[in-house]
Amino acid sequence: MEPYSNLENLQKEIFSGKINCVQLVEHFIERIEKKKSLNIFLEVFEKTALDLARKIDKKIKNNSAGGLAGLIVGIKDNICYKGHCVSASSKILNGFESTYSATVIEKLLAEDAIIIGRINCDEFAMGSTNENSAYGPVKNPLNSNLTPGGSSGGCAAAIVANLCHVSLGSDTGGSIRQPASFCSIIGFKPSYGMVSRHGLIAYASSFDQIGPMGKSIQDIDRVMEVISGKDNFDSTCVFDKADYKIKTKPPKKINICVIKDASEHKLLHKDVKKSFAKLLHNLKNAGHNIKEFEMPILKYLVPAYYILTTAEASSNLARYDGIKYGYSKGRMTKNWSEIIKQTRSRGFGKEVKRRILLGTFVLSEGYYDNYYSKAQKIRRLVQKETEKILQSCDFILLPTSPTIPFKLKEKHNDPTVLYLQDVFTVQANLSGNPAISIPIFQYKNDAPVGGQLIGKKGKDKELLHFGNEILKNHV
Ligand code: GLN
Repeated sequence: MEPYSNLENLQKEIFSGKINCVQLVEHFIERIEKKKSLNIFLEVFEKTALDLARKIDKKIKNNSAGGLAGLIVGIKDNICYKGHCVSASSKILNGFESTYSATVIEKLLAEDAIIIGRINCDEFAMGSTNENSAYGPVKNPLNSNLTPGGSSGGCAAAIVANLCHVSLGSDTGGSIRQPASFCSIIGFKPSYGMVSRHGLIAYASSFDQIGPMGKSIQDIDRVMEVISGKDNFDSTCVFDKADYKIKTKPPKKINICVIKDASEHKLLHKDVKKSFAKLLHNLKNAGHNIKEFEMPILKYLVPAYYILTTAEASSNLARYDGIKYGYSKGRMTKNWSEIIKQTRSRGFGKEVKRRILLGTFVLSEGYYDNYYSKAQKIRRLVQKETEKILQSCDFILLPTSPTIPFKLKEKHNDPTVLYLQDVFTVQANLSGNPAISIPIFQYKNDAPVGGQLIGKKGKDKELLHFGNEILKNHV
């Protein structure tokens, strides 16, 4: 099989009869099996994928196939697909079968994409290394001693290991972009409200966004064309599909904002610093304007993010009580409160419990004003400041992560050290802006570095366009 470049090229082969969807699905099933030791896929939907492939092959022959025919998609294990298991990589949802499909899944299927399976992630999307999964860590395919990042670490690993064409992850504070950086692929977090969250297992609803990960920006754009747009099941999804599709001609000279507090940050690894400086140099040489801004509020972003998201998580995760569904459903006969206690004690992992406790603490009477209200104020300031910068600049450019991929177990015992590494990714979630991570440096098969662009709200396509320009001409 030819190495995959993008859907457009693949479809040329499909439509000329060189290859069909059944062969593609069989190829990926075989590869996933071969790479089992990386622990990327939790389950392959073999039967459904092959059945669909047969149907789509017929449609291709009749010239009635959808726009994504041939695209093989892996989904993070927190996106619901009717009739298939979904567990958020948690013990508490082990064996739970989804009774409906997420809107993104419905939309992909309507355009004849094939969902190949569900992919390992940090439990309830909480983490930065994929080591918080109840089903074991994922290994980075570039180097199996390294983590692939998290929480959508498996989704990034699946792309770099060639186990699917595109994957769908979710990003609450960087979970698409940071693993994309750690695995040297492209990860896109859309504007908040561009893609429906219906059918995404909630972590922190005012932050969560589903987004595509892949090897080519064209693919990401094509998937976005399908999954973007309003949805009656998610009232926070406010952008029309037409908003996504608007194409404005980009100016020749782009105004790029560099935040000094980020580019000179004390946590920056030397490789990140070096490759970021090189990228800026290339962009300047190409005639783009680099403007430096100060953003002293940067140091409050991580604390504000963890206060607000844990508060939302403590509320969102209250539904896992073992009564309606989950871990101990039908298994325990004790009284009601005992069932809930046992279910939650045994079903949730350490990190999830930590966040539920932190969330209930910051929301409790007496602490609410000191923590939750203050963090909300910070969020408002971040939104204002981001908007102000983007009035005079087209994009904000910063590293995706201050570091290169962590070794497995390296940071496992120190959650706060790990939290601080989210310093560059949480801004876009606090503000709701679209953001993308693209690979900017990799020495041989060594640890890669990702660069991040943040764009204007609702101008997701422009952001992808400039990301592509950087990838093609400046790295
Ligand atoms: N690393 C962040 C966290 O642990 C990101 C999570 C996410 O985006 N889902 O919360």
